[in-house]
Amino acid sequence: MHLTDLQTPALVLEPHKLRANAERMRARAEALGVRLRPHMKTAKSHDIGKVAHSGVTGPITVATLNEAEYFAAHGWTDVLYAVCIAPGKLDRVAALTARGVKLTVIVDALEAAQAVAEHAGTHSAMVEIDCGEDRTGISPDDPALVAMGRVLHTAAGCTFEGVMTHGGHSYSEHEPSAMAQVAEDERAHAVRAGDALRAAGLPCSTVSVGSTPTATHARHLEGVTEMRPGVYLLGDLFQSGVGSCTSADIACTVLATVISHRRHSNRIVVDAGGLALSKDRSTAGTPFDAGYGLVLDALTGQPLGDLCVTSVHQEHGEITSRDPMPWKALPIGALVRILPNHICMTAAMYERYHLLGHGGQIDGIWTRTNGWAERPAQ
Ligand code: PLP
Repeated sequence: MHLTDLQTPALVLEPHKLRANAERMRARAEALGVRLRPHMKTAKSHDIGKVAHSGVTGPITVATLNEAEYFAAHGWTDVLYAVCIAPGKLDRVAALTARGVKLTVIVDALEAAQAVAEHAGTHSAMVEIDCGEDRTGISPDDPALVAMGRVLHTAAGCTFEGVMTHGGHSYSEHEPSAMAQVAEDERAHAVRAGDALRAAGLPCSTVSVGSTPTATHARHLEGVTEMRPGVYLLGDLFQSGVGSCTSADIACTVLATVISHRRHSNRIVVDAGGLALSKDRSTAGTPFDAGYGLVLDALTGQPLGDLCVTSVHQEHGEITSRDPMPWKALPIGALVRILPNHICMTAAMYERYHLLGHGGQIDGIWTRTNGWAERPAQ
């Protein structure tokens, strides 16, 4: 099969770029002296998980139980579910534990810790620390930290692992030095929380931090045991804008077809709109604003001038340029590829990756999981 045979919009993956991104982050984790527990919420693919761990299964992070079930079905047994556990989901956690998966859940409230402690079959738990994003998590100085640690440590059948944090406020920063400061926020908060637990006589074998910008820009990770970047595997225009990768490293693009010429307003319309690209405008307001995505030649992957998707409807994407449109190069039916703003959101609408090989050849298809539904054990 060839790229030109695909129905559009379609998600296209360049495996050599993926492998290089994975290799770079493995080397980074090694240099920082921490275990790599890649977050699979972006890629949602066991094949990509294997690339992240150079061909084998290993520790991973997930953001939904659907992902945990999908990875478990493909033989992954060390999974951190890094969203505060809803007590009503503990039966699903226990079912995975019963299948031999070490599924670690996180809590930031005493009621949740008690629910975990009382739920037979729950295996492993951590407390989430807030290091400045103010999404979820508690301060390392909050007495609730030790209270939760004690409840989890003393519960029968539950292993209390330690603490984790996520410096999501790195996404409000655009300068490497500011990213490095958020990385230090992550490290210092998590380490302080670990110290508070140990001072109270509790174990804390895991001190977990991570995002792609902080993993890239951290100066050191003393006291930390693992990091959890995820978007680095595929990359996107926000990450290239903040220096986590270059735009040439972005491994995943959306293939789209030209469907209309709007010559009176110098616009081309493609069949990839808000659903196919997502409406995440994470580059908005930055010096590297890329609209809803930058436009590439479908075969060479080279940028087509300054062509950019600047407006979207559900199934229409409007491409504009400061220069006259290359109408002849992009007739109705022509293919383009679009670099995504935020790949986690863009990829979420697709069930598969098409692996792009030499000369536009499609060398294979890798499936993804999506959504929140319970996946039956296989
Ligand atoms: N850990 C947690 C808890 C997260 O929520 C995320 C992303 O949202 C990550 C790790 C991975 O960060 P990134 O998407 O920057 O790679």
